[in-house]
This record gives sequence, C-alpha cells and structure tokens, in this order.
Amino acid sequence: MPEGDNVWQAATRMHAALAGKRLTQSDFRVPAFATLDLTGWTVLEVVSRGKHLLHRLAAPDGEGPLSIHSHLKMEGSWQVYGPGERWRKPAHTARAVLRAEDGVSAVGFSLGVLEVIPTAEEGTVVGHLGPDLLGPDWDPAQAEANLRAQPDRAVGLALLDQRNLAGIGNIYRNELCFLARVHPAAPVSAVRDLPGLIATAKRLLEANKGRSRNTTGGFGPRNDSWVYGRAGQPCLRCHTRIQHGTLGEDVQRERDIYFCPRCQPAP
Ligand SMILES: [Zn+2]
Repeated sequence: MPEGDNVWQAATRMHAALAGKRLTQSDFRVPAFATLDLTGWTVLEVVSRGKHLLHRLAAPDGEGPLSIHSHLKMEGSWQVYGPGERWRKPAHTARAVLRAEDGVSAVGFSLGVLEVIPTAEEGTVVGHLGPDLLGPDWDPAQAEANLRAQPDRAVGLALLDQRNLAGIGNIYRNELCFLARVHPAAPVSAVRDLPGLIATAKRLLEANKGRSRNTTGGFGPRNDSWVYGRAGQPCLRCHTRIQHGTLGEDVQRERDIYFCPRCQPAP
C-alpha cells in the first residue's frame, strides 16, 4: 500500500516526464474508457492529492480540460519509460498507457481506480479529502480539528481516514503511534500531544518524499522502521518483542498493526 509520499513521488516523476508534451497515443484498458482516445491532448501537469493522482490535460481544440484520476490502492503503480524501453511489470496488468510526442510513456499498472473526468469536476473525487500532508492546502490546525471531532475513535483508524488528513498509509500510521507512545487501538483522546503527532507525520512524509524507501527511524539501512514489519523483533527503545495484530472497523477492512506492548500499552 503506497503512502502519500510514494504517490507524491509518482506524480513528480510523471510531471517531469510528461508536462507540456502532446500525447501521440493513449490506451485505457478499463471497459468504461476503452474507446477514449486522448491523442493530440497536451499534459498540463500531474499532481497528487493525498493518495490520489491527477493527470490534467488540455484539449487540442480548446474544449474544457480533462483529468485522468487514478488511485494506486494496494498493488498499483505508475511507471515512466523511455522510447523502446521494456516494461518492468506484466503487460496484462497495464490499465493505462500514455505516450508523448518524444516517445516517453507513462504506464499505470494494477490501478485501483482509473477514470477520466472533466477537470472542473475533480472535487467530486478528491473533495472529501482532509488537508493534504504534502499538498498546497496543508493545514495542521484543520487536521487536528478533524481528528478531535471523533475523540473516541481508535487513533490507528482515524489516522488512516483520508477525510481527516490525507497521505498516511499503513506504515506511517503504525510508526506514528509508536513515536507518540500510543497503542493504535487507543482513542484519539488518549494521545497526549496530538499537534506533535501531526507535526511528526508532516516531517516524515516531507523527509521521505524524495527517497525511494520509507524511513521513519533515520538510523541506518538495517532498521528502516521502528515497529512496522518487525513482529517478534526487539523494540528499539526497550527491547520488548514487537507484537502484531489487526485493527479495523469491520472484518473485511482490517489492516495489520505493529506495536510495542510496553511502550504502547493496550487501552
Ligand atoms: Zn518498547
């Protein structure tokens, strides 16, 4: 599951590769847009909003701009290829292919969401998002107010809810709970320093947005997380074994949690 900084990176890479260029081919391999052809359209920009991606395109004939809205969900990725370069993912998983006039292409694989909408209607797909940790609308006070509006909700769930603040995935929510010394199932109201937790989230995503791997510890290549993925290994603070569990509002949507039972006692 990509985090907000991975999506920001993908948008930045595609913006660098495609912005200002005219498309010579487009191929949408989803039924609803299989016949759509954006040949001749110009890529204006590629931006991320939380974990959503938006390719904004101008029409050759002055029609209103369109946006390709995509979401990577669990398995998706967008990759940029030079002319003639071989794809690094199986072709049958490609959902969108955009080729620019200079032969550079962007290919979206296994995308969880792919649709093309008028740019003027982007609000219908990203308008529900809370302040974006890496976006121009970032507003820590608003993020805090959104989280505090449901004081009894598990903090591990509230941090993943993109309506509160946008950009945190499962790695960061686990790491943030550890850094705040709070169990993921503890209520939001149990967080002693919520502004501090939000500031840490911002710092982590900013620090990692230019890197290829997510790093939350910052203590070298061997330990790139405090608790995420470290079940059974010693806590880096107190040497108690890290525990693994699941947390979710319903069984279908349970996600992995990792925590130190000593540093983050269960509520
Ligand atoms: Zn510990």
